[in-house]
Amino acid sequence: MTATTTAPLSFTVSHPAAPVPDAQREAILAEPGFGKHFTDHMVSIDWTLEDGWTNAQVVPYGPIQMDPAASVLHYAQEIFEGLKAYRHEDGSIWTFRPEANGKRLQLSAKRLALPELSVEDFVQSLRELIAVDGDWVPSGEDMSLYIRPFMIANESFLGVRSAQKASYMVIASPAGPYFAGGVKPVSIWLSTEYSRAGRGGTGEAKCGGNYASSLLPQMEAAENGCSQVLFLDAVTQEYIDELGGMNVFFVKKDGNLLTPNLNGNILHGVTRASIIQLAKDRGLEVEERPISINEWKEGFTNGDIVEAFACGTAAVVTPINELKGADFSVGDPNAPAGELTLSLREELTDIQYGRRQDRHGWMTRLDA
Ligand SMILES: *Cc1c(COP(=O)(O)O)cnc(C)c1O
Repeated sequence: MTATTTAPLSFTVSHPAAPVPDAQREAILAEPGFGKHFTDHMVSIDWTLEDGWTNAQVVPYGPIQMDPAASVLHYAQEIFEGLKAYRHEDGSIWTFRPEANGKRLQLSAKRLALPELSVEDFVQSLRELIAVDGDWVPSGEDMSLYIRPFMIANESFLGVRSAQKASYMVIASPAGPYFAGGVKPVSIWLSTEYSRAGRGGTGEAKCGGNYASSLLPQMEAAENGCSQVLFLDAVTQEYIDELGGMNVFFVKKDGNLLTPNLNGNILHGVTRASIIQLAKDRGLEVEERPISINEWKEGFTNGDIVEAFACGTAAVVTPINELKGADFSVGDPNAPAGELTLSLREELTDIQYGRRQDRHGWMTRLDA
């Protein structure tokens, strides 16, 4: 399905009767946590098969009314995105590669039989929200406003087919540093009982359903002292796909990088693509190919793999120092973060926060 309306949409704006008072907002921004507090407004755009995208609005943040028969509640036709707004030293507000997120939302929409929003309207929806909620973008080390665009099927109909009504919305939540007190390496749990995505499934789409199926293995990981789950390919259970919500990289002893290729089951991470570019800019080689779980296990043991890290927008780059499974563990839970891991993390966040030249034109200003 494609959008029948031609871009760009124009947005109407309405404000809450009682926005969060300045002092209360400042208190929230001083210690926002993650995903707990939301800004005063949200974006809402409707779609119908007949009329395409209509009714683009910025409205007060609040509950949405939904028919109990709304298709998303029954058949999980839902997709989402995640990106951040960063406040630069001079007060201006920027985001990172929003066109990539807009394109990925289209890819997800296609797979979930939802309508595609134009990349132009997607980026405009972010600008509209920042125009009214710019005061919610915190300043300071590793602080950001996490932006969550999402789309749901919203037709009141229990028949099994793609919905003829959908809603696209954007909400935003101030976020503190992912690692309070500095970047800390984590232990990863290898799930052998569960898969994240099967061949031909929705692994490449950013959809809520993928997350629903990852929560039980995530609990298993937590019970075993691990903060994230690693999933293998569902067919052979031999090759590494990714974590529940992050892509994974390895550093070989020659200093080059290794990451699973985009095999149809792996999310096309914007952070992943950016890390690959930054590594190549340094003259490093990046091998994108199937990586067996044994290659990691053996590599961590014999020294062929010297660093491992996970990456995604929320936590940026997370060092991994241990891999654990039901009957093994490799690596060292006390080992410090890898040098290249930390240096790539620093380069990426320097670009995002405007501390380093944006040589690839990745940053988009949102408040002007
Ligand atoms: C969002 C997501 C990622 C990371 O993507 P970024 O664009 O880097 O934030 C990786 N894996 C999964 C499953 C995801 O949902």
